[in-house]
Amino acid sequence: MFIGHYAPALIAAACPKAPRLGALFVAAQLVDFAFFGFVALGIEHARLVPGFTVMNALDLYDMRYTHSLAGTLLFALGWLAIARLAGSAWVTAMIGAAVVASHWFLDLLVHAPDLTIAGSGSRYGFALWNHPMIEMPLEIALTAAALGFYLVRTRPHGRAGILAPSILATALAFVQVINWAEPQPDRVIDPAPLAQSLLALAVFTALALLAAWTGRSRIPRLGPRLRTL
Ligand SMILES: [Zn+2]
Repeated sequence: MFIGHYAPALIAAACPKAPRLGALFVAAQLVDFAFFGFVALGIEHARLVPGFTVMNALDLYDMRYTHSLAGTLLFALGWLAIARLAGSAWVTAMIGAAVVASHWFLDLLVHAPDLTIAGSGSRYGFALWNHPMIEMPLEIALTAAALGFYLVRTRPHGRAGILAPSILATALAFVQVINWAEPQPDRVIDPAPLAQSLLALAVFTALALLAAWTGRSRIPRLGPRLRTL
């Protein structure tokens, strides 16, 4: 799951009390921000194994802190605490925390069994990455439906209100297609290349910035935003 992670962010952003869309894009990928940062620092580990799944070579064998259910929920709690300290209303902070937590459940659909409940023991994952004819339409449909919902529930604020979401949608489609088209390596690469982690962090950041621009250019139809993150 890549751009599909942004579906909960787009749906939540239609709520006037939600954090801004840029913040929600960070929330949706918060544990992957941490994961690729931890991999770069050698705290968590991944390697590339040709054919590990049909769709990619990611052998995510050590994600104990970021992608255990307990770890993800701790990230969500951390979001809640920081948002409250920053002055967000409870409901705003909780919407953001729920989007952080959604990451683990969407990963559960696609990952090979590599997700844990508390960092060790049984591993879970329904491995849709082995079924591209299911995974690809599902991810596209999920993201497109969420973006459509967001656009219907908000209205443009000036010309940017049309331009920004158009560029965001194009960027989401572009990075997903590049991600799917990336050829598998012909040998095991252990650890996964540092450049891959840095690229992932750069792409997540760029998408969050585009989402922030989009969020500023759209106004919820239900009324003024209340507290924002
Ligand atoms: Zn993830």
